[in-house]
Amino acid sequence: MQTPDRSPSIVYWLGNSIYLNITNKCPNRCYFCFRRFKNGIKEFKLKLEKVPNTEEVIEELHKILNKNNWDEIVFCGFGEPLERLDVILEVTRWVKKHSGKRVRVDTNGQGYLLNKGRDVVRELKEAGVGKVCVSLNAQNKETYNKICKPTFKNAYENVLEFIKRAKESGLETEATAVTVSEIEVSRFKEVAEKMGVKFLVREYIPFFW
Ligand code: SF4
Repeated sequence: MQTPDRSPSIVYWLGNSIYLNITNKCPNRCYFCFRRFKNGIKEFKLKLEKVPNTEEVIEELHKILNKNNWDEIVFCGFGEPLERLDVILEVTRWVKKHSGKRVRVDTNGQGYLLNKGRDVVRELKEAGVGKVCVSLNAQNKETYNKICKPTFKNAYENVLEFIKRAKESGLETEATAVTVSEIEVSRFKEVAEKMGVKFLVREYIPFFW
């Protein structure tokens, strides 16, 4: 079933979390990516017609921030949030100043490839991000390339490096994967455990339409 036709959402909510959809760009082409099959999630349309600037993100967030006792604010939409590091930093600073809510970034872990020369993890931490969930998605490079079809050649190594640096910086760090047939869950867990981070394996829900 397609999401109803309506204006694209920069801000949407699921459960007790607010989500920020700040870009539709991503250097991966994962075959299970929601964007390939749907226009949005629930009643929210996440295909953006225009890339929002920081002020627009804050304006939309401001409208609902005090409407519920939200648990956290999560950068996660139909694209890779670290494509827009500066927006994340500015919005996070605003959130910490005006609400103190926990901020999380769901990322594919290619932040250093997307932001050459930047100290991405340190900048996130200093702005007030508390947690990163990193889509490691595979037990090795070969499997990662099959599943995620990255544009960057050394994507998998960079994802591992991002997780390592995030963990070392003191950010709460979780490695995630979905249960597609290529993944060997026990070996994926071993990789995460070796790096000393938590892991989460989400069930893969195939699309049939
Ligand atoms: S990394 Fe995330 S947004 Fe990018 S293609 Fe994969 S599932 Fe989609």
